[in-house]
Amino acid sequence: MTLDLAHFRKELESELERLRTARQGVNHEASLTDETGDLSSGAGEIADSATETYMRELDEGLEENAEHLIAEVEAALKRIEDGTYGTCVVCGKSIGVERLEAVPWATLCIDDKRVQEQG
Ligand SMILES: [Zn+2]
Repeated sequence: MTLDLAHFRKELESELERLRTARQGVNHEASLTDETGDLSSGAGEIADSATETYMRELDEGLEENAEHLIAEVEAALKRIEDGTYGTCVVCGKSIGVERLEAVPWATLCIDDKRVQEQG
């Protein structure tokens, strides 16, 4: 089986662009909230600061997730360059085109992915 590397490279590059935009969007929204947030109403202060903490953690979570995915996508692009793209890093078998269509940055075949998810 021969993979259409040009196709997957394109998929990965557009995903990378989307993730970078999402990461910037998170940062942008967070700074907007800081500038325009009016929390001076006294009575709601405790609830507001709790919400603020929660939102901040949520933002950091999204940002972390985007960072993580960006690293995965970049690694997949590097595997295309190296000629190892589409091969399971555990057993060395072909990951399978259907799985790569769903998750272009996959590093594990479906069997090893299941093993990993089971811990
Ligand atoms: Zn495998």
